[in-house]
Amino acid sequence: MTLRFHDSASAATRDFVPLKEGQVSLYYCGATVQGEPHIGHVRSALAFDQLTRWLQTSGYNVTVVRNVTDIDDKILVKAVENNEQWWALAYRFEQAFATAYESLGIQKPTYEPRATGHIPEMHALITQLIERDHAYPAVDDSGDVYFDVRSWPQYGSLTHQNIDDMQAAPDADPRGKRDPRDFALWKGHKDGDPETAKWESPWGAGRPGWHLECSAMVTKYLGTEFDIHGGGLDLRFPHHENEMAQSQAAGHGFANFWMHNGMVTYQGEKMSKSIGNTINPREMLELARPLVVRYYLGQAHYRSVLDYRPGSLTEASAAVERIETFMRAAHAGLNSTGELLLLHEPCDIRDLPGAFRAAMDDDLNIPAALAVLHETVRAGNTALAKGDTAATFEAFQSAMGMTDALGINPLDAQWQQGSGSEAELTALDVLVKAQLEARAQARAEKNWAESDRIRDLLAAAGVDVADSATGSTWSLKK
Ligand SMILES: [Zn+2]
Repeated sequence: MTLRFHDSASAATRDFVPLKEGQVSLYYCGATVQGEPHIGHVRSALAFDQLTRWLQTSGYNVTVVRNVTDIDDKILVKAVENNEQWWALAYRFEQAFATAYESLGIQKPTYEPRATGHIPEMHALITQLIERDHAYPAVDDSGDVYFDVRSWPQYGSLTHQNIDDMQAAPDADPRGKRDPRDFALWKGHKDGDPETAKWESPWGAGRPGWHLECSAMVTKYLGTEFDIHGGGLDLRFPHHENEMAQSQAAGHGFANFWMHNGMVTYQGEKMSKSIGNTINPREMLELARPLVVRYYLGQAHYRSVLDYRPGSLTEASAAVERIETFMRAAHAGLNSTGELLLLHEPCDIRDLPGAFRAAMDDDLNIPAALAVLHETVRAGNTALAKGDTAATFEAFQSAMGMTDALGINPLDAQWQQGSGSEAELTALDVLVKAQLEARAQARAEKNWAESDRIRDLLAAAGVDVADSATGSTWSLKK
């Protein structure tokens, strides 16, 4: 079985061979933190989380870099509208993104660089491009620096476009450009821009262009050549075309594979605030629990369109319930027979069903992989009903491995947070109160050693005890 991915640059599905044996370097574009995350952002991060987990399950050590664009024209405009410092607004929304990612079990990248922390690296790249005659300072003294698209014959090769058919780059006053398609590497400071949003440079004070940020940060963290560059389909042009052009024009090999995830639509239409046919991650999490939202957003093939319809989350919830009910029943049954000793062993790829591995290796065919999972759950339920412990154990282990690989294991601690049932809380209260009574008794008998022992035991269990004249109360440590 060979791992194969669809490479958007060559428009072909190719065998994946990393540049360094056993290591994979992955960069995918993060958000411009100008507002609340929308569902497209989260689907993209989830697609690359699924990719990362499959590479890890396949035995690779994966270095993942996802940037934060924390300076941008849109951020500056929104900050004025909100009467807020641009950097405060950017950080506020950066945190909103982090919360959305975390609630859906999207693993943190290895590194998450911010654009504003990498200005010197961007200057170095611009200097290289000017020296190689692929960039020039604006002819109108605006302080802008542009990439010269006509100087790079391969411009357009990522998206298979002819330069003359391309749209102009609307990122600066075209009067300073040699060609309207030339895009800004550096944007000169303009009157009215906040003083805090400028950095000195050899071409005058200003701020970086968006496309340049990613190229500079990729090189810093992953080198001039790396395995996979990812992002949403909407970023292919102009963003990724420009990233590739400027990095390759600087002499970098850049990405070996380009992977793009599909968009999310609403009943077949593009989501649009003006039409009102939108749903954001926060609204989805009000309709369903996080595990269901993750399952829903991650169940389609990453390259296909994911079409949201009212009722989509109910269907996903039923699917998750089928998996969870079997796994909980099997877990309880196997525990009671003493069959289950090792619950949270890391998933070993060799224990996964061959059909599941083949599906995942085939450009992450998750719909086919989920079909294997559901088939395993059906077989497991049959085994449970028959009291066939060996077959139940096998199905359970398989389901554990597959759900772990996909990040949707219902027994994982990630999905238990805040979900303590009434019965569990009552049981905990009875047990803690029994310890508190024993401690009160020990204190009454001046048996300080015993009283301390009980306090330490409770502290180790994460229980805070507050003593007062009327007795002791407890709470879980925050
Ligand atoms: Zn990017």
